[in-house]
Amino acid sequence: MLDLDPILTVLAWASLAAFAAGLGVLPRAVLGRLPRAVLGWGNALAAGLMLGVAFVLLTEGLPTGIGYGALGGALGVGVVLFTHALTGTAELDLNALDDLDPAYGYQVVLVNTLHAAWEGVAIGAAMLVSVPFGVSMAVALAIHNVPEAMVLTEILAGRGVRLTHAAALAVGANLNQVMMAVVTFAVVSAAPAALPWVVGLAVGALLQLLLSELLPESYHQAGHTSIALVALLAMGMVVAFHGATP
Ligand SMILES: [Zn+2]
Repeated sequence: MLDLDPILTVLAWASLAAFAAGLGVLPRAVLGRLPRAVLGWGNALAAGLMLGVAFVLLTEGLPTGIGYGALGGALGVGVVLFTHALTGTAELDLNALDDLDPAYGYQVVLVNTLHAAWEGVAIGAAMLVSVPFGVSMAVALAIHNVPEAMVLTEILAGRGVRLTHAAALAVGANLNQVMMAVVTFAVVSAAPAALPWVVGLAVGALLQLLLSELLPESYHQAGHTSIALVALLAMGMVVAFHGATP
């Protein structure tokens, strides 16, 4: 790996994850309108990868300070609930492909933007555990961003948004992932005692998001057994990949 300043390393890998979201328009561009089940599996894949990231971040990032980690986790869940309540997106149906209310498109992009911020905190926290670990988490979240953007594209394309614009919106919704990764890394580098809090915060927020957004939607879109299998396979891949890297 290039010997970059650590902040630049975080910036580079978090940016890679954000720009990967642009690839999410490809299935729609190649195949046209996607079957509903494919969207369900996309959500399940995104949820499973997120579950894997949360799991390994929890095991690697909290060898000590589990009490502070738990408090951070509760805070993460609370902040996600609060930001969703504040923006009026708490019970937004992310499945309404044919909803033509003008506000709906904005709300869905907003939900994706809020969601991406927490993944940025997770990347920053993982980079603080170690740079190679942070890179593997950024790669997992980069892959995760693709099916997530695929689902967003389907909603936007159904509302007449061009695919190039959908790609730009998907990347744009993930740019604060980059900012949050860099800010988390910089702040906690200066105050290392905060690491268990921040790891807990990221894990709590990720779990809340996948349980309240991604999985409930996916269960409406495809068979329950297939959703569970895709999500578990994706989680297993993150855990196995992490176990295989020194
Ligand atoms: Zn995500």
